[in-house]
Amino acid sequence: MHAEVIAIGDELVTGQRLDTNSRWLSAELAVLGIPVTFHTTAADTLEAGVEAFRVATGRADIVLATGGLGPTADDLTRDVLAALAGTPLEESAEAMAAIEARFQTRKMPCPASNRRQALFPRGSTAIPNPDGTAPGIDLVISDGGRTSRIFALPGVPAEMRPMWAASVSPAILDMMPDVATIQQRRIKCFGAGESAIEEMLPDLVQRGRDPLVGITAHEATITLRIAARGRDKAECAAKIAATEAVIRDCLGTLVFGVGDEELEDAALAAVAEVGGNLATAEVGTAGELATLTAAASARRLADRRAAAFAGAGVLPAAATDDAATLAADARLRFGAACGLAVGGLHDGVEGRPAVTIALASPAGVETVEHVLGGGPALARRRAAKAALDLVRLRVGRAGEVAR
Ligand code: ATP
Ligand code: MG
Repeated sequence: MHAEVIAIGDELVTGQRLDTNSRWLSAELAVLGIPVTFHTTAADTLEAGVEAFRVATGRADIVLATGGLGPTADDLTRDVLAALAGTPLEESAEAMAAIEARFQTRKMPCPASNRRQALFPRGSTAIPNPDGTAPGIDLVISDGGRTSRIFALPGVPAEMRPMWAASVSPAILDMMPDVATIQQRRIKCFGAGESAIEEMLPDLVQRGRDPLVGITAHEATITLRIAARGRDKAECAAKIAATEAVIRDCLGTLVFGVGDEELEDAALAAVAEVGGNLATAEVGTAGELATLTAAASARRLADRRAAAFAGAGVLPAAATDDAATLAADARLRFGAACGLAVGGLHDGVEGRPAVTIALASPAGVETVEHVLGGGPALARRRAAKAALDLVRLRVGRAGEVAR
């Protein structure tokens, strides 16, 4: 079983807007283990739409489409699908009632143009849209013994994504025999590159494996996504646990967290474990370290379960750019458990730009050289993350394991 994705909209083909829906849907399909063979982008004309769907339904078992379901004259997806199937558009009483109810709760009259959104090609099914007026369209096209199922969704990502999760992905799961559910878990790593990590996990990152393990990198943080298929949640959980154990065994302290957890969250959690705050000071990273730490600190405050508060005191423009002095000063000035600092820019090995990272704790001051890489913004982000990595490796429970 394989899929294709179609993005519809003049905004997309004219280059005014980037098609992020196709990327998002393809990543979701990959989690289900369904390969995507083509992406097509089509203009808002009947001819372009019909041609795009004709070609895609001739090749793929599943065709996902976004855009063109709105109430305006340029929203033609429903007309395109009716023309493709050779069937008329019919009004759905149910969809009409849902659209009217939506306007009623907002105490607004329902415009005639919105009534168009209750029209469906004969034989198709509406896909509920809890966040907007336009329902999606679920339509099976049969041609010479070959069938292809189309799921057409609105273009607005905030409407499209919940519809995928609530209706489309369960419908696709139903099309796959032996698979009742799919569960996933993300393992977050820092301290080695994407390919280095892949090499440390022999046979794990492979197509067709169950559970499937995917690897992505973002600003030096590596995410391993484990996706398991099974008859129920317990079977999936058991498969995920076994694969996670292998990953943790191979990667050791490179693993810092799971799910949405970021490196800065892990660093503050480590400081909270020793019962104190983290104070930061920076020269070479232009506020990046404070930004990351403050965001993590806010997340901890928002999480009422976090008993200990690890905050970030930020040392203002300093008289020195020496990282060790800055870290010790920050720690003292804020009465913090740890002081973390990034010093000024200097020439490192082979004349490459570098910064010094320093961590001041009751154990003393430790410094590490960090060579900057990537463009200026990315280099600062990476340096700040390297500093936070030092905290999570040296402080708290993880630190004790590492020593
Ligand atoms: P609406 O009811 O808002 O008109 P629609 O289904 O007709 O929804 P479009 O008119 O094609 O969708 O797009 C609405 C908005 O959704 C676009 O202006 C754009 O902001 C966003 N959008 C559409 N397609 C994409 C896409 N492929 N990737 C990212 N954003 C998109
Ligand atoms: Mg529209």
